[in-house]
Amino acid sequence: MRPRRLVLLGHPVAHSLSPAMQNAALAAANILLVYEALDVLPENLATTLDSLASAGAAGNVTVPHKELVRKLLTHVTPVADRIGAVNTFGTLDDGTLEGDNTDAAGFTALVLSALGKIPAGARVAIIGAGGAAAAALAAIEEWEDAEAMVYARNLRRAEILASRFPGVAGVETLTDTTRLESTIVVNATPVGLNDDAFPVPLESLRPDAAVVDLVYRRNETAWVRAALASGRIARDGLPMLLEQGALAFQRWFGIEPDREAMWRALKEATGRV
Ligand code: NAP
Repeated sequence: MRPRRLVLLGHPVAHSLSPAMQNAALAAANILLVYEALDVLPENLATTLDSLASAGAAGNVTVPHKELVRKLLTHVTPVADRIGAVNTFGTLDDGTLEGDNTDAAGFTALVLSALGKIPAGARVAIIGAGGAAAAALAAIEEWEDAEAMVYARNLRRAEILASRFPGVAGVETLTDTTRLESTIVVNATPVGLNDDAFPVPLESLRPDAAVVDLVYRRNETAWVRAALASGRIARDGLPMLLEQGALAFQRWFGIEPDREAMWRALKEATGRV
């Protein structure tokens, strides 16, 4: 059903750029709704979802609730089931919530914005083994002849993730001396979010490897800035945030949102104008 309320569920959630981006899309489409951030504790998630269903709400889910919302909802789309996480939901006509996931498509859009195309036979290194890594692996398994490696500080977690994705060629413990032979290297950890730390030194990468950081912050991450300065192709996670949000909007209202308006809001919110 057409949403009667729009929310973002997270904890904490005040820092999120999604309200600025989604409210810009709503204004551009002349839809009289306000997208609001709701800070919800994990123990209150089940009751919150019940009341959102009664209210005919739709919205997004962010850290740390994506996996828990997947478990709490009976109806989820195949892609949300594949990833094991929900980042988007809506209320069905029968009053139940349906969980979806637009992060995988958002990841493909990010790589497209970095490289201009998804190269056939891509060799991708994913650093991290959490929900964002799962979304990236779900995207990569749809790419032509692509292969992924997973690097994580916790090898057991990487092995469990890889066991769900048969296309993963191998897993390795990530150390400062690990050498990555992939041509696309993806940071799917929070490293670099609040400081200038690198998920992996650039010297550990092939000279021609592109750098794709799912993290975004004001003025890009230090890892992306250093990669660009050394002549590499590099992009931070802002285009992924845009596309996952645009696809969520499309799901809620059945119309294409104004991506330009959403992008302007994101650039303003990150001080990039
Ligand atoms: P998550 O489920 O908590 O997983 C985080 C992963 O990073 C885990 O494998 C964790 O390892 C690893 N990790 C954490 N700190 C680390 C460190 N200091 N060194 C090495 N590895 C570390 O989180 P997530 O949902 O996957 O999200 C990860 C990041 O992706 C988020 O911080 C967010 O910035 C970004 N993201 C961006 C978008 C976007 O639209 N651009 C969308 C989703 C996520 P352990 O298991 O050992 O803790």
